[in-house]
Amino acid sequence: MSKHPPMPVMSNIVSHWINGKIVTDTGARAQDVFNPATGQATRKVELATLETVDAAVASARSAFPAWSDMPPIRRARIMNNFLALLNAHKDELASIITQEHGKVFTDAQGEVMRGIDIVEFACGVPQLLKGDFTDQVSTGIDNWTLRQPLGVVAGITPFNFPCMVPCWMFPVAIATGNTFILKPSERDPSAALFMAELFKQAGLPDGVFNVVQGDKVAVDGLLEHPDVRAISFVGSTPIAQYIYSRGAELGKRVQALGGAKNHMVVMPDADIDQAVDGLIGAAYGSAGERCMAISVAVLVGDVADKIIPKLAERARTLKIKNGMELDAEMGPIVTRQALERIEGYIETGVKEGAKLVVDGRGLKVPGHEQGFFTGGTLFDNVTPDMRIYKEEIFGPVLVCVRAKDFAQAVELINAHEFGNGVSCYTRDGNVAREFGRRIQVGMVGINVPIPVPMAWHGFGGWKKSLFGDMHAYGEEGVRFYTKQKSIMQRWPETIGKGAEFVMPTAK
Ligand code: NAD
Repeated sequence: MSKHPPMPVMSNIVSHWINGKIVTDTGARAQDVFNPATGQATRKVELATLETVDAAVASARSAFPAWSDMPPIRRARIMNNFLALLNAHKDELASIITQEHGKVFTDAQGEVMRGIDIVEFACGVPQLLKGDFTDQVSTGIDNWTLRQPLGVVAGITPFNFPCMVPCWMFPVAIATGNTFILKPSERDPSAALFMAELFKQAGLPDGVFNVVQGDKVAVDGLLEHPDVRAISFVGSTPIAQYIYSRGAELGKRVQALGGAKNHMVVMPDADIDQAVDGLIGAAYGSAGERCMAISVAVLVGDVADKIIPKLAERARTLKIKNGMELDAEMGPIVTRQALERIEGYIETGVKEGAKLVVDGRGLKVPGHEQGFFTGGTLFDNVTPDMRIYKEEIFGPVLVCVRAKDFAQAVELINAHEFGNGVSCYTRDGNVAREFGRRIQVGMVGINVPIPVPMAWHGFGGWKKSLFGDMHAYGEEGVRFYTKQKSIMQRWPETIGKGAEFVMPTAK
């Protein structure tokens, strides 16, 4: 790790990347991008008009024939060059993320690394695209399958992982022969442009990867565009559901990952200190702004009385500061509006009758008085009817629910409308096994607080955490971005005489 985060020079206006170059639309609307640690607007991001969306789609469309025709091994070589450049510039990328998102620099480095993992996975595309072949399905006839790219595909991503979540999408889409348009979050738009420039340096032909900055206008422009064949979306549940239904109505392939409310069960036999470490990191890391953050602790049997004092002590003493300081454990919240929403939920929890053990509201960080900071908050005696239990807060607020036994803990989690990630701390192998089998959640950790699957396994929740049937990246990602074709072939020497009027069967 570097001793001081690098400070890359960044443009004051964040524009679009179309056909291999920066495209500025001076007539377009623009919005402030903040450094959440200082509360200052540091630059402006342009919000694309429909004309800009059309230009990006046209560029991706004209790049598609040559790119999809290029042998996968040659596409993989360009991906390998991109991988090397990402590795060479990963700290600059992490620093860009910290300055626009607010997460601590070391966490941003982790995010970049998890994005790089997927680029590495995509470098194996010749192997991933290998088809199946059956010799002699019938006398003189062979049958094989191949997977072909869809065409122009788009990705719409949230603010909380400006590098990693786009990397769930574009490396796999592009390696499999598609051309891509990324619409990153308007809150932290610069990481996408930085990656686009590196990809060009890696030898990517112009038009294969495009970035359109913007808001709903840009999203709807992509969603409605007849030349966009598939949409990958990651963000909040209401928007995910909207993208999924409208995209499906228009005949597009859609994967739309939504919000979450992730539980961690702590069983009475668990190592309490390990569970405390797991909960503190997973609840307050990245200020709780992770879709896999643990926001509910389900404390079974007598665990609550043992663990809550320890959690409270740790929540009170979190090192909360500007994420560019290397010993920071937690940084600010992304925007003032998000900060107000989170602190509003804390007020709601108090009104609902939950016990506020640690109140993070109103935190002021010396030297950063205008920054969007709040402290770690901890609630006890939370019940399933409360809004702070049911709804996604997306901030550093951990709510504790008490359960009498394992069965009640499982029932509680299975009844929740979200099903992204979950964790269980125990030393009992049978409990672990039963938990893994019975829980209605897409990603499960046993003594692992944040079980984000590695690049070759694929990421996806259940219930209202994912709309569509394919998970992101991994082999599911390869399937999402390709369509299967089956070819059956015979040669004139083996064709018999006469028309066949019955359904052909193997002969
Ligand atoms: P968001 O839904 O507000 O925004 C996501 C994207 O949708 C952005 O690019 C945004 O510009 C666009 N968008 C926003 N409103 C829109 C609208 N009305 N119409 C069309 N497009 C719109 O989400 P966010 O606040 O950026 O991110 C946080 C959310 O993302 C949380 O709910 C979190 O759980 C979720 N998330 C989920 C996963 C997952 O894998 N399931 C991963 C990361 C984040």
